[in-house]
Amino acid sequence: MTVSRELYQQIILDHNKNPRNYGRLEDPTRKIEGYNPLCGDHFTIFVKLKDNRITEITFEGAGCAISKASASVMSSAVKGKTVEEAEELFKKFHQLVRGELDPKESTETLGKLVAFSGVSEYPARVKCAILPWHTLHTALTSEEHRTTTE
Ligand code: ZN
Repeated sequence: MTVSRELYQQIILDHNKNPRNYGRLEDPTRKIEGYNPLCGDHFTIFVKLKDNRITEITFEGAGCAISKASASVMSSAVKGKTVEEAEELFKKFHQLVRGELDPKESTETLGKLVAFSGVSEYPARVKCAILPWHTLHTALTSEEHRTTTE
C-alpha cells in the first residue's frame, strides 16, 4: 500500500464520518445544487461572499463516501479564500484527480486535497470527487442554480 493510498483512505473515512461545514447556511450569497447522475451524488452548496472572498461555505445532501468527503475537504480548503484562489485550487484539484499533477510536487498548495490523488486510479470515481468542486465553480462563476457533472 502506498502512502498516498493510505492517506486517501484515512481522509475519506474521517471526512465521511465527521463532515466539516455540513448543514445549511442562512442568507447565502449563492446556493447551488450539484448532481452526479452516474453515481447519484446530490449536494447543495451554500456560499457567502464578501469583498470577493468566501467567508462561509457549507453543504448538505447525500452521496457516496468519496463525494461527501470531497465536499467536506473542499469546504475547509476554500473557506477564507478569494474567488480567484478557489478557482485556482479547483483547476489544480481537477488535474490531480485526473492524474495530471504530481501529488509530491503539490503538497504545499493542495494540503489535504492531495489525498484525492488516489481517485485517479479509479476513473469511475473521478466525477464523484469533482462534483463538489464543479458545483462550487458554477456557484462562483455563474447565476445558475443547478449543475451536473455531465
Ligand atoms: Zn459518487
